Amino acid sequence: MTRTLPPRVEATFWSLLMALGYFMLASLSLHATKGEDNIAAIWPPSGYFLALLLLMPGRARPAAIGAAAAASLAANMLSGAPFLMAAIFTLANSVEAGLAFWIVRRREGEDLSFMVPRAVASFCLAVIAASMASALIAGGGTMLAFGGIGLDFFLSWMTTVALGMLIVAPPLIMLTRLVASKALDNATMRMKIEAIAVLALAALITAVSFEQSHFPATFLPVIAVIVAAYRVGPFGAAAGMLIIAGIAAWLTGQGHGPVAAMEASVKEQVFFLQFYLLALQSTALPLAASLVVQRRLAKRLEQSNRWLVQAEAAALVGHWRVDLMRWTIHWSDQTYRIHGLEPGAPVSVTTSVEQYVEEDQPAVRSILEEAVRTGEPFEYQGRIIRADGKIRYVKSHGSIERGRGGRSIGIFGTVQDVTATVENARSLEAARSIAEEAANTDMLTGLPNRRSTLALLNRALSAAGEGRVPLAVAIFDIDHFKQINDRHGHAVGDEVIRWVGQRAKATLREEDVVGRYGGEEFVCIFQGPSARSAELVAERIRASIEKADVYAEGPAHVTISIGLAAYASDASVEELLHRADKALYLAKREGRNRLRMAA
Ligand code: GH3
Ligand code: MG
Ligand code: MG
Repeated sequence: MTRTLPPRVEATFWSLLMALGYFMLASLSLHATKGEDNIAAIWPPSGYFLALLLLMPGRARPAAIGAAAAASLAANMLSGAPFLMAAIFTLANSVEAGLAFWIVRRREGEDLSFMVPRAVASFCLAVIAASMASALIAGGGTMLAFGGIGLDFFLSWMTTVALGMLIVAPPLIMLTRLVASKALDNATMRMKIEAIAVLALAALITAVSFEQSHFPATFLPVIAVIVAAYRVGPFGAAAGMLIIAGIAAWLTGQGHGPVAAMEASVKEQVFFLQFYLLALQSTALPLAASLVVQRRLAKRLEQSNRWLVQAEAAALVGHWRVDLMRWTIHWSDQTYRIHGLEPGAPVSVTTSVEQYVEEDQPAVRSILEEAVRTGEPFEYQGRIIRADGKIRYVKSHGSIERGRGGRSIGIFGTVQDVTATVENARSLEAARSIAEEAANTDMLTGLPNRRSTLALLNRALSAAGEGRVPLAVAIFDIDHFKQINDRHGHAVGDEVIRWVGQRAKATLREEDVVGRYGGEEFVCIFQGPSARSAELVAERIRASIEKADVYAEGPAHVTISIGLAAYASDASVEELLHRADKALYLAKREGRNRLRMAA
């Protein structure tokens, strides 16, 4: 506001403002209290002095302090005080303003805010310390110079200047800041009208209460201050107090009102009024500051809550909390949405568990019980039936909340609809198993293909190698298959291959394997007890194929030759198969349609 002024002009401006204001306030206060015991209830110049010191730039302060001192000296002497007394009082008031300023600066730095309870406490502390120092200087000086000073002089000086600072400085500082910060421009017309109305009402109530002495209506301004603090904030409280103190002190000084009508000495009446105003101010300022804090907290809480709701809606995650003391449950809006319910519909712990499908409910109950018992966090996935009857998969994560003494007081959890994930995983798994099946199956016969047969055989060989499970392998090959192809065509040849495979499969036991090893070559794997009767079983296959009629358009009969090898410490599948193959070769050579054992 004065930053653009040259330093000399700036210092002059503040000094003039200080001198004029101080002189006027001091003269007015001295005039108002003259004729009584020369005791004022409040000394407003102290508050004015302190407020200006706090508001002005540092370089303007020395000159302004000199100006205040000169104004104080002049006002005191003009009201009839001898020079020495005026000088002592001036020194006391200057030291007090300087000390209060110094303490506030030390504790609160550049900006003293009446919106912060701690700063309000600092301000009160500074005022009390400064007014004590002031009373010591004024009382001590007067006693040394003139004698005959009692304890009440100290007390009355102290409370008078303390009230002056407590009541006058805050509204001055806040009003200046309001104007400078353009906060007034941001206030709506409604707010301004309300502030003016509340302050006018405070003035009216105080005037009515302190004008008459029929009723002890000193309690009425208390209501006005509380309303001002509540509706207009710290500035309302401070301005309200200034108005109340001004009117009450002036009317009481004029002999009006319940305080002046008390059957007590003027001194006692002034003390009573001071005590009354002190009590009021020490309630109003902290109340207003803590209201600001509460409102700020409430606002922040409301915002965090809004963010939480937005985050839950965006992430499709809800939360819930079981109160273990009252056995109630809270659901967030998103939790309701996941269950297909209107947010806010009544829910209980029991109905929450019953959201799950019947088969999942026992697991949910036991997980909750277990969590309460062990205090460990948990995770659970289950199915719920939504309000629309649809079944959805939900995943919950939860943890136990502990109160004092480590007692479990609640369960906090999140819930997420994971149906899409579960279904994706399912179809992926289905696709994977279909693909795996296809990769391992021979298209023509539906039997394990060469790759899969070899894999099975490898596994069987390892088991046999460890001496656990007996193993025998048979290779069989269709006899004169080329002729079948030549006579009946390739399609019939295929059909014969398929038929032979099926026939072999039908002859085998469930646990035995037959796979298509090559064109019209098959491999049988016999494990365990089957291995011991492998020769019998292989012979049964051969016989069953020999006996059967194949089919109308095909050859009348088909035969196979078989080479069988029992596991005999073979180092590899190839070695074992090679032995079986050699036996098959023998069978072919010896006339086909027969079985030969490997050596
Ligand atoms: P052998 O009694 O000595 O076994 O005489 P073979 O005529 O059966 O001789 P080989 O086992 O060597 O015959 C293999 C023939 O099988 C060669 C090929 O034309 C035929 N073949 C191989 N794979 C298929 C197939 O998938 N479908 C059809 N239709 N024929 C096949
Ligand atoms: Mg062959
Ligand atoms: Mg053949």
